[in-house]
Amino acid sequence: MFSDDTIAAISTPPGRGGIGVVRLSGPDALSITNSLSRFDLINTLWEPNRARFAHIIDPTSNEFIDEVVVTYYKGPRSYSGEDIVEISCHGSPLILSRVLEIVVEKGARIAEPGEFTFRAFFNRRIDLTQAQAVRDLINAQTQYQARVATRQLDGELSRHLAPFKDSLIEVIVHLESSIEFVEDDISPETSSTLQEKLSAIIAGLSEIADSFSFGRYVREGFDLAIVGRPNVGKSSIFNRLIGVDRAIVTPLPGTTRDALYESTAISGVPVRLIDTAGIRETTDLVESIGVSRSKSAIADADVSLLVLDASETLNDDDLHLLDQIPVQHRLIALNKTDLPQKLTESLAPIDGYELTHVSALTGDGFDQLTSRIFERLAGTDAAERDDIIITDARQYDAIRRAIEHVNGALEMIRQGELEEILLLRLRGGLSALGEITGETLTEDILGQIFSTFCIGK
Ligand code: GDP
Repeated sequence: MFSDDTIAAISTPPGRGGIGVVRLSGPDALSITNSLSRFDLINTLWEPNRARFAHIIDPTSNEFIDEVVVTYYKGPRSYSGEDIVEISCHGSPLILSRVLEIVVEKGARIAEPGEFTFRAFFNRRIDLTQAQAVRDLINAQTQYQARVATRQLDGELSRHLAPFKDSLIEVIVHLESSIEFVEDDISPETSSTLQEKLSAIIAGLSEIADSFSFGRYVREGFDLAIVGRPNVGKSSIFNRLIGVDRAIVTPLPGTTRDALYESTAISGVPVRLIDTAGIRETTDLVESIGVSRSKSAIADADVSLLVLDASETLNDDDLHLLDQIPVQHRLIALNKTDLPQKLTESLAPIDGYELTHVSALTGDGFDQLTSRIFERLAGTDAAERDDIIITDARQYDAIRRAIEHVNGALEMIRQGELEEILLLRLRGGLSALGEITGETLTEDILGQIFSTFCIGK
């Protein structure tokens, strides 16, 4: 995948803007830039990390193209580790594509998606976790996602993994050089030290891996189904959570006959909200199709918010729904708390359940509702916790495999089976961890990862 030619791309988003940047990286970045300007860019005057004003001229036609500001970063102290030139033009798509065209005529090649970042990775400016964090930061749609990505950009995941890798290497080196090992016999003390070390590695890695149960929501979002019998205020809660009047709200039961979907974010985690049709026994054909769709939405949702009407008593439809939603996915909102309360009188069937009191009419209780939803996904102390969060399925898979290998090795030591395969398992664990930082990945997998980047990054 690596080539050492000079690449170029428009690094700013498509469309018009104040400025637009054409970026070059590679050995000829500077000489190509020099050839675009008649007099202001003289090779010997280039100073790294300094911006310079220049006129871009088409070298073939001598036509004046744009007034620009050029910044030069000298490799290896640049983003990609190579010479980089950034030409900031006026932000017109026509000018930018013209400048790119000329740069290519002068010998640059159009960059593949993520190729600048790939070069940074290849030149060891950053590891793979950081490269992926660059992509995640650019793709972030909420501040929370951006925060998680920024921490990874700083190398947080690699720093967390480093002590476990070191410890694994120590065990491998110890076993490789241990005379006892060759003789198929290690002392009970050595065996217990090794077991302790491997157990600590497993515990540490498991903690990181466990963060994926929440981390996958941070990246992919989650499905929240709002369920309840007709007229309890589902659509009103839906509208309040998305912040606009999307669902039709009427006092007539059965208004929402099919599920409505909207994307928003709750505490910075993307969410697909589903306003389901009210679930009740019905003979109306259209309504009954809606009801059965609501039931499958409940089955698929990560969290189901059961809405009860505080101004009425509980009825059989409510109780039936209470049974249908798996406890680990269920949150209960007691809506219409602005009205005189009747439900409190008949709370017995839901006695002991955690209820969030809200009023979709006034907005009361919604802060608490959103924190409860967040806590259900992330755990109770998540908002204050500052530990690492794995958001990437590939990273998660690699950590799981590393744990499996180390677990296998630990079992063998416990059983006194000190064969060559023990070392193979430990090396397998190390290699799985290396996939996360990119040291032990094959070229095609690297290619796949970088192809998910945008052009110009
Ligand atoms: P859905 O059928 O469960 O989706 O319920 P809707 O959101 O359509 O609301 C049914 C009726 O209850 C409408 O007349 C709403 O204005 C009213 N309603 C919803 N939430 C509240 C609330 O918190 N307080 C009061 N007083 N009325 C509400």
